[in-house]
Formats: sequence, C-alpha cells, structure tokens
Amino acid sequence: MAELKNLMISVSGVRGIVGDGLTPDVALRFAQAYGSHFGPGRIVVGRDSRVSGDLIKFAVWSGLMAVGCDVVDIGMTTTPTTAMATEKPENKGGIIITASHNPREWNALKLLAPDGLFLSPEEGAHILERVQQDRYSFAAWDTIGKVIRDENAADYHIACVKKLALIDVAAIRKRHFKIVADPCNGAGGTILPEFLQDLGCEVIYLNLEPHGRFPRSPEPLPANLKDLCAAVVKHGADLGIAVDPDVDRLALVSEEGVPLGEEYTLAMATDFVLSHTPGDVAVNASTSLAINDIAHKYGVRVHRTAVGEIHVATKARQIKALMAGEGNGGVIYPPLHLGRDAIVGIALILQYLVEKSKPVSRVHADLPQYVMVKDKITLPFGVDAKAMVARLTEAHRSENIDVTDGLKFLFEKSWVHIRASNTEPIVRVIAEAPSEEEAESRVAALKAEFARLGTK
Ligand code: MG
Repeated sequence: MAELKNLMISVSGVRGIVGDGLTPDVALRFAQAYGSHFGPGRIVVGRDSRVSGDLIKFAVWSGLMAVGCDVVDIGMTTTPTTAMATEKPENKGGIIITASHNPREWNALKLLAPDGLFLSPEEGAHILERVQQDRYSFAAWDTIGKVIRDENAADYHIACVKKLALIDVAAIRKRHFKIVADPCNGAGGTILPEFLQDLGCEVIYLNLEPHGRFPRSPEPLPANLKDLCAAVVKHGADLGIAVDPDVDRLALVSEEGVPLGEEYTLAMATDFVLSHTPGDVAVNASTSLAINDIAHKYGVRVHRTAVGEIHVATKARQIKALMAGEGNGGVIYPPLHLGRDAIVGIALILQYLVEKSKPVSRVHADLPQYVMVKDKITLPFGVDAKAMVARLTEAHRSENIDVTDGLKFLFEKSWVHIRASNTEPIVRVIAEAPSEEEAESRVAALKAEFARLGTK
C-alpha cells in the first residue's frame, strides 16, 4: 500500500498539490472507500475548472464504479450545484473535485453525505480508516457501476434559487442591474452568465473562461480584487461581485469601487432575510459582530459554532435556522440547502438592493460598522498548538470567554479569538472592534501573551 504523504486529510476530504501528494492513486482509493462506505447507488461527481480536474475525475469515476456505484456526471460545476444535485432523492452521495480557494496547482476531493452536507466527523473517520487499511467492497464484473450524464445540474440549481419565496425575479429584472463579475477563471464561469442574464443583469466579466489557470490569488479578499474594483468604476456599474473557484464564497464591491469585505456579504444577506422572516441565525465563532447587532434588531438569537461549514450547517439544521453562514462570504440559506452558496447569495443581495432602492455603498453604510484584523503565528513543526491554546484558556477561565473553538475573549463591542489551525502549524489570531486601532491592539496584546507562554 502506498503511503499517504504530502496531503491534508480532514473529515471533509483530502487535498494536496497535484503530482506531489495528490495523485490519481489517492483519488482512486478515497473514491473506493467512499463508495464502499455508502454502498452501491448513484453518486454525483462534479469538478471545478482546475487543469487537473479531468485527471482526478477519471480516477474518482473508476474508484466509484469499481465498488458498484453509478457515477452521475454533472461535468464542470460549482460546489453548491453539486450539493443540490446530491440532495435529489434518486442520488445517494456526492463528490466535488475542487481545492476551493487554494492556488491552481492544488486539487482535492470534498466528500458529501447523502443529504448534501459535508460528511460528519464520524463518517469521515470511517472512510479514512478504509483508505488506510485498503479495505474496499469491490463489485464483480457484471455489477460494476456505469456513468450517467446529467446535463441539467446548473439549470436545476438556478431554478431552485429563482423559485424561493423571498426572490422576486420580475422585480430584479426590472431593476436591470449593471454588474462587473470576476469568477477568477473558476467554475463560476459555468453558471454566472446564464444566472445573471436570467435576472436581467447587464454584466461585464473579468476572468470568465473556466480554464483553471487562475490569473491572481483566487481567494476573494479585498487585496485580490483590485482589477474588479477598477472595472466597476470604469463601467459605472451598480455592483462588483467576486466568487472563489468553486463558488461557495461571495464578495462584493460597491459602485464606488470599494471592496466591502466578505463579512458584509453575510451581513447584508442576513439583514435581508431577517427583515422578511425573523428567526435564529447560525454562524461560526469568527464571524462578525455585525450579525449579532442585526439579529438584535429583529429580536432573534445568534448561535455560534466551531469554524467549519459542517458545524454551522449542523447547528442551522438543529435550530431550524432561516439564515446561516460563515463570515468569509459563505452565505447559507437553509430554505434552499444547508451549504455555502454564492449563487443564492447573489440572488438575496440583488433582492435586498431592489428593496433598499439605494446604492450598495449606502446600504453598506447603514449596517453596523466593524473592522476585523486577522493575523497568525507560525510555530515550529511538532509544537502542540492546541495544548498551548488550552493553557492560555486555563489562565483566563474566570473571564468572559467563549471556548467553542479555541479561546475567544468577549468584550462589549469587540472580541479577539485565538485558535490552532486544523491543517497547518499555525495559530490564528483574529479580532474585531469598531475601530482598526482597537482591533490591532487586541491582536497585538494576545500575540504577545501567547509568545510569553513559550513553545514547551
Ligand atoms: Mg470555496
């Protein structure tokens, strides 16, 4: 059995650099394990636009067919589109081949449960155990799976979004939004043109062709959106939108060419949804306090979870939330499905702008204003970062802290959060406050205290 190395393995799948860790053999084994775990049935397979997409896809197909699963091939597509297809009753699971916002040399398998959510930690552990033990349930020659082509996954996704009770397609069309959209040559190019045209938008595209040779860092952070900001101003557009390569994160740029920051994507969508359908909200521990202020306005509660989409989705289902998400542009609208989805995010934002009837910069200015500062501490390999955070937690036991995920200090209008990364030898330190100075100083103070712990 080949050793698994140079890979980042988590409950939701496996990722690595193609040719240096992530090989067809790794993809084949995870697909065999996945298919063996869930048993014969139809498994949806989508891929984003990465150059290695076909290479990994054929290994995944082969692995699934070898253990008796039929492959539902939905082609090059987005993560939320794959999740929506997986949720159809005739399908038994789903795998999306995407390394999300990682650089272009990466690829990954994201494994979905039959309900379209990411795998639970328990299911993920079962599948990893099968891979490590090379334990698969191979089918006989006459019961191997076949490939079924489904050409309509994107149409189905779009149709479901348009049918939502809160979305008035005619009103959005009437507004005739002028938009500049930048999908970074990712899978957004397979769905945005049809979707935005259907909503009556006039769209100027940057980096539309889904060829996977990303021209910039593909994470939709303000620093990566300079071309988009300039294009919005140049074309006199109402709005700029950027999505990450698998289209589960959405960032907005105002008509003035100012990036609004991913936290405000979720804040706007939340303000819109709660204004129509007030109900409790589920977000992760690092999401903006703006969500609390907005929830307070509508008399509802915010439930916070550990960082990670599966934790937020599970909590959202448990509390029957009508709105959920992660502050990194990950809008989850549970009445559609329990996954981050930039397509439904765009629909909610456009509907919100229709109702507000003012420029997006003004809509943003009306929301609670916070500044978030994100920093990290890189540790030597082998240091137990989680244990260090635990020691820090013990020292502050009596203070107003939240230990859902790492250690988070809560203040009146600010917070600072320290947590060990699950995937890298680093500790993340994030603070949010009404001013940048306060957020910076909270990060600096906590970093200094962490450094005093020493790396014993
Ligand atoms: Mg993504």
